[in-house]
Amino acid sequence: MKIRCLDKKDCFANADGYCICLTNNDFGGRRCSFYKTKTKAATERKKVEKQLKRKGKTGLIDMYNGRGQ
Ligand code: SF4
Repeated sequence: MKIRCLDKKDCFANADGYCICLTNNDFGGRRCSFYKTKTKAATERKKVEKQLKRKGKTGLIDMYNGRGQ
């Protein structure tokens, strides 16, 4: 089931006003702790991929990107 997220449209997980990561965004009146801008998420993703490549863990990159088993 899709959940609406209208106040954080710049979040990496927001697609046309819906959250594509969570199945529940009722945080009891608190802010979503998973919120991250698309730019920040992309930067962190590149950093992690770089670290994994340096360690020779390219299989994890494939798995993370949905190309693994
Ligand atoms: S992770 Fe949180 S802020 Fe981001 S789209 Fe989902 S509910 Fe909204």
